[in-house]
Amino acid sequence: MNTISFFDTKPYDKEFFDKENEKYGFHIIYHEEKLNKKTAVLAEGSDAVCAFVNDDIGADTLKVLDKQNIHMIAMRCAGFNNIDFKLAKEKFHVARVPAYSPYAVAEHAIGMLLMLNRKLHRAYIRVRDYNFSLNGLTGFDIHGKTVGVIGTGKIGRSFIDICKGFGTEVLAYDPYPVKDSDIHYVELDELFRRSDIISLHCPLTKESYHIIDKKSLSKMKDGVYIMNTSRGALIDSEDLLEAIKDKKVGAAALDVYEEEADLFYEDNSNTILQDDVLARLISMPNVLVTSHQAFLTEEALGNIAETTLHNLDEYFKGEVMENEVCFQ
Ligand code: NAD
Repeated sequence: MNTISFFDTKPYDKEFFDKENEKYGFHIIYHEEKLNKKTAVLAEGSDAVCAFVNDDIGADTLKVLDKQNIHMIAMRCAGFNNIDFKLAKEKFHVARVPAYSPYAVAEHAIGMLLMLNRKLHRAYIRVRDYNFSLNGLTGFDIHGKTVGVIGTGKIGRSFIDICKGFGTEVLAYDPYPVKDSDIHYVELDELFRRSDIISLHCPLTKESYHIIDKKSLSKMKDGVYIMNTSRGALIDSEDLLEAIKDKKVGAAALDVYEEEADLFYEDNSNTILQDDVLARLISMPNVLVTSHQAFLTEEALGNIAETTLHNLDEYFKGEVMENEVCFQ
């Protein structure tokens, strides 16, 4: 029986993976620890590891796995920017879940937009205190506004479809535009200049790192809404904070954060938050932070478990893995 060490696991992972594993009968060991150079030894005796978005799969971690003769990393997510591919190449098989529910992420982004615009987060708290005042809760019609979408892959397109239903004009930027689509592509500068709402749906790469920073923010409309459900480092958080303080940015919806790795997914309610930028962002009435939860629907968790175990099954059978990210 093949043994797989799962890292950074939570009760909801276990629920969906145990159910899916009834088909395969793998021996799964669930670790709560994130995978990194120190915890990699926990995988001793396993045939593969399964990792997630905030695991540190850098060179040092890979060396420890290599020593234990573990050469299969099954990512149970779409992104893989946390792996050192220079070292992984030709030694490690890496598979991922390219798509599990673009709708989950797109719908979460829309939820955050509506919440911020119509101040639902504040209304909810007020009413619970029998405060039925509407002062300060004025929003705007999304209908008729211009939405800029950066990245028109699976999630970006799902987000665009929903935006169209609201009666918005959608402008998009993607270095690899979808051919034969009715998506209205423009240059990035035009998107920055014309959009009332900007939503990020591109991966984190060298080119997209800090795509939202002081310089790009200066090109945007006053009061622009910035939405990030992709990867934290697409935004320079300090520049965003300054732009919110200057009222350049009207609101920010952040499901991801540059320095989220040691904080998100954990209960830190009994500790003193050391990240002053995040603390200040969270304190703002026009900022909504969620803990990288946009993917969290039953459908997505079911699909993640299905594809991840299918990838592992292909690896153990020596078959070509359809979701292989790198090997040779
Ligand atoms: P995808 O691969 O289908 O699409 C990504 C698109 O971004 C592609 O069309 C690509 O050409 C484009 N792109 C690449 N570089 C770009 C750049 N510099 N500027 C603009 N566009 C660029 O990916 P997807 O499934 O739509 O996912 C998008 C991102 O969402 C992922 O990379 C991941 O970071 C993030 N994500 C977040 C969650 C969450 O829970 N918050 C869940 C899943 C995915």
